[in-house]
Amino acid sequence: AKSQGANRYLFFNDSMNKLAVKRLQVENLIRHGLKESYFSVYYQPKMDIATGRLTGMEALVRFITPKGGLISPASFIPVAEETGQIIEIGEVVLRQACKDVKRWIDQDLFQGRVAVNLSSRQFSLPFLCEQIDDILQETELPSYHLELEITEGTVMQSPPQAIDTMKKLRARGIHLAMDDFGTGYSSLAYLKQFPLNTLKIDKAFVDDMNTARGRNMVDTIVTIAHNLSLTVVAEGVEQAEQLEMLRKLRCEVIQGYYYSKPLSADDFADFLRQHKIQ
Ligand code: C2E
Ligand code: CA
Ligand code: CA
Ligand code: CA
Repeated sequence: AKSQGANRYLFFNDSMNKLAVKRLQVENLIRHGLKESYFSVYYQPKMDIATGRLTGMEALVRFITPKGGLISPASFIPVAEETGQIIEIGEVVLRQACKDVKRWIDQDLFQGRVAVNLSSRQFSLPFLCEQIDDILQETELPSYHLELEITEGTVMQSPPQAIDTMKKLRARGIHLAMDDFGTGYSSLAYLKQFPLNTLKIDKAFVDDMNTARGRNMVDTIVTIAHNLSLTVVAEGVEQAEQLEMLRKLRCEVIQGYYYSKPLSADDFADFLRQHKIQ
């Protein structure tokens, strides 16, 4: 039994090593990508459910390999969070998103807000507001065209500090969205204290809407959001049936493959041209 135990120990040790090696590979890839500008920003439209018009978009980072391959953020964001590289990636994404949106506004293609994801690490930076100010100034994007998406996990790390930072951002005219609502541990007591504009319902809840329980859950989330005067965005909407259910539950905005997958800046500009209000 003892030798078996030793083997098991070796086995775990080996798989842990593989994990560490994998992590190091991703870390090196990210470093290389930052140096060579392999990170790119894709945009997914957010549509007003009542009018079918575009209200904004979410900026989503992509790693474009030299051969043109696309690496999903799910495979590198967690590592980047751990190593702290997410801070630099986040800055690259924010700057690029502001630049692209400024151009679309100048071209008379867009008037809404671009939503950019903020990681916990970024949100806790002592100079976050100054960094955002600098990027807005440099790109000449008015602050009211910017929205930041923050998760429950991020704000619950230290709610009083989070409220403070959020107030500073709001004072600049920046909108704030609670991302992936309901997937982390949230506190209703705090939710009402956070100066939010938007609540985003995670795809997992939208997927569950084919059951009565799932629909009730979404109904409850929408009711909570509306009681707090928040706009509700449902993400991961793929089917017309989901859209109709969300409409009945008075969700305001839809994001998902039903309308469009995330698009490269060029493709998104085409999408804007097609959806331009004449
Ligand atoms: P998220 O913030 O919840 O973003 C929504 C994700 O759902 C995106 O995945 C989007 O492509 C996907 N999605 C949207 N509609 C549908 C749909 O109808 N069906 C399906 N199957 N998926 C849909 P993506 O782009 O792979 O990003 C994954 C996560 O990576 C994001 O989840 C976010 O947490 C993180 N992320 C992406 N870009 C950034 C970034 O610039 N900074 C930070 N900190 N995190 C980012
Ligand atoms: Ca998001
Ligand atoms: Ca989300
Ligand atoms: Ca999500």
